[in-house]
Amino acid sequence: MRPCVFLDRDGVLNEDRVNYAYRLDHFHILKGVPEALQLLKDHGYLLIVVTNQSGIAQGIYTEAEMHQCHQFLQQECNHLIDHFYYSPYHPSVTASLLRKPGTLMFEKAIARYGVDVNASWMVGDKGRDLIPARAMGLRTIQVGHEVEPENRGEFIVDNLTAAARVILGKA
Ligand SMILES: [Mg+2]
Repeated sequence: MRPCVFLDRDGVLNEDRVNYAYRLDHFHILKGVPEALQLLKDHGYLLIVVTNQSGIAQGIYTEAEMHQCHQFLQQECNHLIDHFYYSPYHPSVTASLLRKPGTLMFEKAIARYGVDVNASWMVGDKGRDLIPARAMGLRTIQVGHEVEPENRGEFIVDNLTAAARVILGKA
């Protein structure tokens, strides 16, 4: 079994955008992300992205455009990400347990990669990232300051660099 850091995408790895991040020229990787991912990988963590991409169901962008962004992210991050799980669904079109706060993306990853849940973490910027993570028994770190009092992360930090520091300090 292997420890894993589950990562939300928008707001953790790249800048979140009100109108969705799907065009390469709008896809800005946040400062320090490649280095933080490298540090976690050097310490033996699987790096798995779990991301809601409901813009696909809503017809705002295509799956191909999303994959292009993921390829770019991998290029810029030395291909450190082990897997992208994404939920293309939106409740207005199709409800799905794959969509966070559902747990199905996490369950798939845990089964496929033999994740040691007790040694693993979720880093996200929204309550809906932290709810399924807690349900799966992961420790939680919230990036940024959109804190919902009822869904706080166990740790609240400014960015992925600081999240990596927490994880490696507690390992
Ligand atoms: Mg997010």
